[in-house]
Amino acid sequence: MKKVALITGITGQDGTYLAELLSDKGYSVIGVTRDVKAAGGKLSFLKFELTLVEWDFLSQDAIVEIVRQYRPSEVYNLAAFSTGSGMFDNPVEIAEVNGIAVTKLLEAIRTVDDKVRFCQASSREIFGEALTSPQSELTSAQPRSPYGAAKLYADSMIRIYRERYNVFACSAILFNHESPRRGEGFVTKKITHTAAKIKLGLTNELLLGNLDTARDWGFAGDTVNAMWLMLQHNQPDDYIVSTGKTHTVRQFCEYAFGYLGLNYQDYVREDVSSYRPSETAILVGDASKVKSRLNWSPKVNFNELVQMMVDADIQSLLEKNIR
Ligand code: NAP
Repeated sequence: MKKVALITGITGQDGTYLAELLSDKGYSVIGVTRDVKAAGGKLSFLKFELTLVEWDFLSQDAIVEIVRQYRPSEVYNLAAFSTGSGMFDNPVEIAEVNGIAVTKLLEAIRTVDDKVRFCQASSREIFGEALTSPQSELTSAQPRSPYGAAKLYADSMIRIYRERYNVFACSAILFNHESPRRGEGFVTKKITHTAAKIKLGLTNELLLGNLDTARDWGFAGDTVNAMWLMLQHNQPDDYIVSTGKTHTVRQFCEYAFGYLGLNYQDYVREDVSSYRPSETAILVGDASKVKSRLNWSPKVNFNELVQMMVDADIQSLLEKNIR
């Protein structure tokens, strides 16, 4: 019989990569979303059968019912309020979605079938301004945003359900990961999309915040593979998932524009007024545990990632202009 996996936040960047990965591995995939109709449209590019289910993440009963009805053997919680700049604007909603909903999912698993394995998409934002670098699973967490605080609460509940109720629950502490499917609000997408537009003569300027901000950027396809590996191990645990390398926004621009035969300095302007509040110190993950224990390693490097994103943006702009 086919294994059943349930993915919340199915319409997001990671949801689609994870759904593809699980479908390729022979799972039957249940995508959980806030809006089935909208999700159907967004996911029409997926080339396999996917069951979509609507959820109300505020309702414990509704979540229990979904787990009871679909009887997954694995649950991946990717749903989150996750826009970069919106982090400080919606603290209550962020707490509900990124924090309390995780407890509701854990509670549903505990009551319906405590053998269900659970993987949570946690975030490097739990570290806030970390005092030590690189950050590992042992680094002390001091979030500096409502998003990070809610993710940390969820991580604590995962540990509690693991220890107290023996639920197979893992936190994947994810550093930034990108892809052609990255949401428009994120800096990497803004760079590749605008560079592609400039190349095609559709615009001539890109306004960005601090160009010297450094990030540990990986590929979303590699990241979701690590999450799957976590649920295949014989022991549940928490893992940092990162490349262990940082690049600055400037380097990202330099490479993206250079790939298109352009000099970023001719087009990119730094806008000090759009610096993010509480900009964190350089964050870089130490992924040695996931590498050694789960034999995971990223397959796509920084240059390949940028190229992939630029190529996809050029392609989609050309298709739009042709129509
Ligand atoms: P994403 O593209 O923003 O997708 C998240 C999904 O969550 C959305 O498609 C949406 O699905 C659902 N969602 C969004 N806002 C919501 C809200 N207010 N209430 C309930 N559901 C909401 O995120 P992603 O990049 O795929 O990331 C997946 C997970 O990894 C998230 O939990 C994120 O916090 C975590 N993470 C990501 C990164 C990264 O660099 N990408 C880094 C660290 C951690 P529906 O509309 O279908 O409901």
